[in-house]
Amino acid sequence: MSEEKKSLNFIEQIIEEDLANGLSKDKLRFRFPPEPNGYLHIGHAASICLNFGLGLRYNAPVNLRFDDTNPAKEEQEYVDSIKQDIEWLGFKWDKELYSSDYFQQLFDWTITLIKEGKAYVDNQSSEQMANQKGTPTEHGTNSPNRDRSIEENLDLFLKMKNGEFEEGSHVLRAKIDMKHTNMHMRDPIMYRILKKHHHRTGDNWCIYPMYDWTHGESDYLEQISHSICTLEFKSHRDLYDWYVDQVFDASKLALRPKQREFARRNLSYTVMSKRKLLQLVEEKIVSGWDDPRMPTISGLRRRGYTPNAIRKFSDTAGISKRDNVTDVALLEHCIKDDLNKTAPRVMAVLDPVKVVITNYPEDKEEFLDANYNDYADGFGSRAVPFSREIYIEKEDFREQANKKFFRLKLGKEVRLKNAYIIKAESCVKDANGEVTEIHCTYDEDSLSGSGTEASKRKVKGTLHWVSIKHAVKAEVRVYDRLFTDEAPDGHKDKDFKEFINPDSLNIIEAFVEPSLKDSKILDRFQFQRLGYFCVDTDATENNLVFNRTVPLRDSWAKMGE
Ligand code: ATP
Ligand code: MG
Repeated sequence: MSEEKKSLNFIEQIIEEDLANGLSKDKLRFRFPPEPNGYLHIGHAASICLNFGLGLRYNAPVNLRFDDTNPAKEEQEYVDSIKQDIEWLGFKWDKELYSSDYFQQLFDWTITLIKEGKAYVDNQSSEQMANQKGTPTEHGTNSPNRDRSIEENLDLFLKMKNGEFEEGSHVLRAKIDMKHTNMHMRDPIMYRILKKHHHRTGDNWCIYPMYDWTHGESDYLEQISHSICTLEFKSHRDLYDWYVDQVFDASKLALRPKQREFARRNLSYTVMSKRKLLQLVEEKIVSGWDDPRMPTISGLRRRGYTPNAIRKFSDTAGISKRDNVTDVALLEHCIKDDLNKTAPRVMAVLDPVKVVITNYPEDKEEFLDANYNDYADGFGSRAVPFSREIYIEKEDFREQANKKFFRLKLGKEVRLKNAYIIKAESCVKDANGEVTEIHCTYDEDSLSGSGTEASKRKVKGTLHWVSIKHAVKAEVRVYDRLFTDEAPDGHKDKDFKEFINPDSLNIIEAFVEPSLKDSKILDRFQFQRLGYFCVDTDATENNLVFNRTVPLRDSWAKMGE
């Protein structure tokens, strides 16, 4: 019980208090309200995991509500991708709803407000209205249109609705208080004219409700008990409450929604603003919203991230009341940790050099049994072909090296993973002094797992390899962080794009073991001694493409040493 209490986050504590104060548990209801103007990113995942997590904890429904009040930037493509991403993360919404479902209801309520003298049409310029707004320390001044008659307001508002006015010429404002200490309460705009096609309501409307007027009312209509949003809306809470008060009918519905705020998830070495992510897409700095370098859910999925790792990350990073930045290394740690337990281990050589085993018969080949994971059960095994000529990584050989170099050097032995012990005898070099071929001999009795004395011989290094004759060529996309700066959009006089990492994508031709020929899009593997890789969506039957999800060791951290 006390264990349980300790693990409550502050939103859960608020809910527990409300329950203790008489809120019935079956009234709990949450929502996740994305605006369909971009793809979901790892910051949204925090909100998704929080809201859907509450749904699971309290066995309460969670609505997916598309907050589609701005027709200019919203598209069906985004709606589809958002649904796909939430499902992929493993969450189920109760109802799929749209703010635009409530346009008529919002309009009807607005007519009532106008009739009650609580809203008016203003046809000043936006500059004039901004000048009257005041400052946090100075009162605003009333609009000259504030005291229009109810009849005139109704007439003008209907003309706005009927498309008789130009965009930007008229707005409807709530009549609250131009002297209010909270600037949001100084006669906020409720409706503006936008002569744009809406992805759901088509051309039915040319006036669109503002976020504040829409959000609380939608929560009320759906009977959301706790409307959880990010900190920038804290100052909007007074307005949220004022709007809900206007339509709240205690006799009909018992529940009054409550807005509560938590800090946005920020991640180091990335940007999270949808506007900036869209810029990266539109300016073709990345290949699309699902480019594996993007912090989007679809980018992370294509990169090889698992839903499990993203949920674990959200959980571990937790939620906070204050703005903060989460280290991207935590995200990388979560995927490494997950794949370490789940990904089969195979062999691939990314930067090959040829090894000839001179005492191995020329036309012989063997199919060696190799476990997919030596440290856990249930992974099974596959046959790995071995022959006289193999590739190893260039960096795994040196002619001479000190005692700390446990890889291959002249006159010394290493074990080939799943195979034999070999000894480097000599090497061939090109005109530039680059090693092009290493000649080795093998110990015929040393086959791994054969049970012989020689197979149990301890040699310091174990190398991965592929048989040249059997290896399959594959394109491997090696990624680094997209930005070189910890806070790319945190510099006042520098554009975030100045910090784009020019080496964020390195495409190489690699050789992989033939078992990988049968792999499917998004299959994930550990390439032994290299890192975690997954099959990219560009892969075809005859053209394998892998993305490096994460290296085994963090090259970034090493650079900083
Ligand atoms: P916009 O600037 O377009 O409004 P947004 O990032 O607020 O962008 P929404 O689609 O409105 O995007 O967000 C949906 C929900 O996800 C909102 O409740 C929002 O508060 C939450 N959310 C968005 N970004 C983050 C983030 N970085 N961390 C946590 N929650 C977020
Ligand atoms: Mg938003």
